Amino acid sequence: MKYDVIIVGAGPGGIFSAYELTKLNSNLKIAIFEAGNPLEKRKCPIDGVKVKSCIKCPSCAIMNGFGGAGAFSDGKYNITNQFGGSLYEYIGKNEAIELMKYVDEINLAYGGEGTKLYSTADTKIKKMCLQNGLHLLDAQVRHLGTDINYVVLENLYNYLKDRVEFFFRTPVEKMAKLPNGGYEVITADAKYECDKCIISVGRSGSKWMETVCEDLDIPTKSNRVDIGVRVELPAEIFSALTDELYESKIVYRTEKFEDLVRTFCMNPHGAVVNENTNGIITVNGHSYEDPAKHTENTNFALLVAKHFSQPFKDSNGYGESIARLSNMLGGGVIVQRFGDLVRGRRSNEERIREGYVTPTLAATPGDLSLVIPKRILDGIIEMIYALDKICPGTANDDTLLYGVEVKFYNMEVEIDNNLETRNKGLFVIGDGSGVTHSLSHASASGVYVARYIASEK
Ligand SMILES: Cc1cc2nc3c(=O)[nH]c(=O)nc-3n(C[C@H](O)[C@H](O)[C@H](O)COP(=O)(O)OP(=O)(O)OC[C@H]3O[C@@H](n4cnc5c(N)ncnc54)[C@H](O)[C@@H]3O)c2cc1C
Repeated sequence: MKYDVIIVGAGPGGIFSAYELTKLNSNLKIAIFEAGNPLEKRKCPIDGVKVKSCIKCPSCAIMNGFGGAGAFSDGKYNITNQFGGSLYEYIGKNEAIELMKYVDEINLAYGGEGTKLYSTADTKIKKMCLQNGLHLLDAQVRHLGTDINYVVLENLYNYLKDRVEFFFRTPVEKMAKLPNGGYEVITADAKYECDKCIISVGRSGSKWMETVCEDLDIPTKSNRVDIGVRVELPAEIFSALTDELYESKIVYRTEKFEDLVRTFCMNPHGAVVNENTNGIITVNGHSYEDPAKHTENTNFALLVAKHFSQPFKDSNGYGESIARLSNMLGGGVIVQRFGDLVRGRRSNEERIREGYVTPTLAATPGDLSLVIPKRILDGIIEMIYALDKICPGTANDDTLLYGVEVKFYNMEVEIDNNLETRNKGLFVIGDGSGVTHSLSHASASGVYVARYIASEK
């Protein structure tokens, strides 16, 4: 079977490249190969009753399938070049912002209308942060919420399904160059040909991406890993920030090691959740737009970036080992009261029960200092005290810390300013390229490549 364009992966990168291609040239024959299920069949079996922890499904419903890793996320689309990836280094700052705004327009047109756009422009919080050694990064944030994000994906699928051929539960196993140009896309039981191929396999496709780069001689560079904890506290404590900005990305330089610690993925009135990366359980968070689903707590991550280059290069392996340690001690995610951590004692069921913050995730009470390297943990504790100055109560004894939160990044694939590899017609976009780390940047990279391909056809 021969296609003009084959897209590997139906996450935001793949979806937006398909969307834009169909808009620009309705004659193109396009196929999308996706390892996971269609959206409506994506169901994680963990129900907290019969199935309490990960049973390692062959295809993880949280990470794989139509919508990609972000399908059940909080749907926070950050319009900024200050975080979420370095797409702007390839395509320019203005173009990157324009594309993110375009993606936002599409999201609104496909079900996101009425959702709120938050902005750091003209906020007094910036000054308050600076006065306390904290730096607020500039961004606009569209918060779709887990519920509306799902509706947008459903609508985008309904638009695409008659214009693009979908192959679900069909992981691509191998890619090969055709002698006369174009590519062969090889799955378990068939081979398909295309003139152009867009690979958008996200974080879950990182190991596969490495094999493709080896096979097709595409250079790669190791990327960083972010390690830290998820903080959970009463929503009122952070309301000064979240009411105005929803999500604030704040960076703090520690006094002790001059490391940078930053807030990540803030979920006002949200819930802390498990995340499964290659069978390792880490922690994450999300929240719903629908007030009926709000909790009394706000959660956010505090992360420190680690980058290894020589002689040890495996940043992700380092993060995985730390996460494995927490899984070994806690059987999954560990939770600890901040008061217990600073007093050098573990949390237990009783201390958690007696605390004034009710955990939204059933994690194992324990001691994070046995898991997280001292340098990282010291930085996190310093930042909690710094945040306490702008949001008093952050450093309360009952503030909960869940660990570990790890953000894995794909190795950086060598691509040019068209996001094309040294193999003509083979593009690598989204988180799978190591260039983007967010919904908005991944989606924007999809639109960018689609426009380039359409202009060439
Ligand atoms: C719980 C959670 C919450 C998040 N919340 C946010 C948020 O609020 N805001 C934000 O900006 N970002 C968030 N993120 C990150 C965001 O989801 C990603 O940055 C984004 O999804 C990347 O898009 P992508 O298309 O590059 O990759 P992905 O979304 O990972 O999609 C890649 C797709 O490729 C498929 N695939 C992989 N290998 C193959 C193969 N060999 N053959 C065929 N298919 C394959 C996968 O099954 C997957 O569906 C969150 C992530 C998680 C896990």
